[in-house]
Amino acid sequence: MRKAIIAGNWKMNMDINESVDLMNTLVPLVGNASVEVVFCPPYLSLQKAVEMAKDTVIGIGAQNMHYEKSGAFTGEVSGEMLQAIGVSYVVLGHSERREYFNESDEAVNKKALKALELGMTPIVCCGETLAERESGAAKDKVVGQIKAGLKDIADIEKVVVAYEPIWAIGTGKTASKEEADQACGWVRETIASMYGQAAADKIRIQYGGSVKPENIKELMAMPNIDGALVGGASLKASFAQVVNF
Ligand code: PEP
Repeated sequence: MRKAIIAGNWKMNMDINESVDLMNTLVPLVGNASVEVVFCPPYLSLQKAVEMAKDTVIGIGAQNMHYEKSGAFTGEVSGEMLQAIGVSYVVLGHSERREYFNESDEAVNKKALKALELGMTPIVCCGETLAERESGAAKDKVVGQIKAGLKDIADIEKVVVAYEPIWAIGTGKTASKEEADQACGWVRETIASMYGQAAADKIRIQYGGSVKPENIKELMAMPNIDGALVGGASLKASFAQVVNF
């Protein structure tokens, strides 16, 4: 039985004061949830968020990290630095990082390996563009990202994958539950081909792309969907309705 996992990606929103306000609103509403809950605030709010989530079921995640421990990488933050403040999840290969910061599958793979080595849970994102979906290339794109981004991983069942069609992110346009489930199925099949069916049956796969209180229930009812990665809707009190669907 796979435990559902619902994560909020705050992106570059919420300064420290706003983060505290949002945590004050959400912690009482989701702190005892029956699903695994993750908040991913910006770096500057992480330490405070860890403190405020103490003694709740909420885990705190970063939105990126570097795979090296330290060194001349101006502006970067290492996994070790995140671990030192109690961060236990990290979103990797989000489509915005791939698009605006040229993050490659190879970098995602190095980061995922590093996160696991540090005992953190990587949430590895994949997903196709609208042009790829319309030209029938969606499956190839997703399978390629999984094969390259998740290669050579010893404890694959500790990874969480987020399937996020780029055309559904922040657009208000959600993939239908059938489309979302089919693509999460492609992820599971690919994991099975790489690591065997038992591992594929254990790995958790989230859907992301305009998830909100109105659509979470039907998405979560699909056999291959084990959770959600939520952007815009994670910044409001109503995120509690997503978590407690
Ligand atoms: C995301 O950025 O991961 C995301 C799914 O955003 P939204 O929920 O706003 O579409």
